[in-house]
Amino acid sequence: MGLMDSKVVIFDLDGTVWDSWPWYARLLGVEPEGLASQLRAGKNIASMLRKEGHEADFQRLAETHAKDLALYGPVEEVLKQMTATGVRTAVVTNLPGWMAEPMLAAKSLSEYFELVLPWSSGSKAPRIRRSAQKLGSRPWYVGDMATDRFAAHRAEARFAWASWGYGEEDPEADRVLSDFDEVVTL
Ligand SMILES: [Mg+2]
Repeated sequence: MGLMDSKVVIFDLDGTVWDSWPWYARLLGVEPEGLASQLRAGKNIASMLRKEGHEADFQRLAETHAKDLALYGPVEEVLKQMTATGVRTAVVTNLPGWMAEPMLAAKSLSEYFELVLPWSSGSKAPRIRRSAQKLGSRPWYVGDMATDRFAAHRAEARFAWASWGYGEEDPEADRVLSDFDEVVTL
């Protein structure tokens, strides 16, 4: 199988890999429900954490509270299995690098992604496209929000909707996943 034939699966993080919203609420010392509605309305978690002075100590926070950041099932085992069978994987997230990298490290997931493309101004679409250029064509993007589907389709990627996340049911998804371990069937 040539390089361009490899299966490529690109992941969103919040609401796709981990249930981070309750964890952020804990770090900020606020009610999870209130924070969830702010985040659903588009408020930026990175700015909220930065405003509370948590940018500089975020790595320490992520390590200290790693246990409380819940993954959606056996994520590490699934990623291990995928990468062992030659699937090429990446992360495209709207979290900035100062959050995404320590969180991935705290959950021992960094080594399973060939590429981590954190927030940069603008849409996820150019970063999904860039991942595909590096890893192989016709990627899947796994995400939980309709905005993820827009970005995936703009980048000519197929979109798999993580139904366990924070988004509304998406009738335009190319695939609906009911559990994290279904990503191996993409
Ligand atoms: Mg998400």
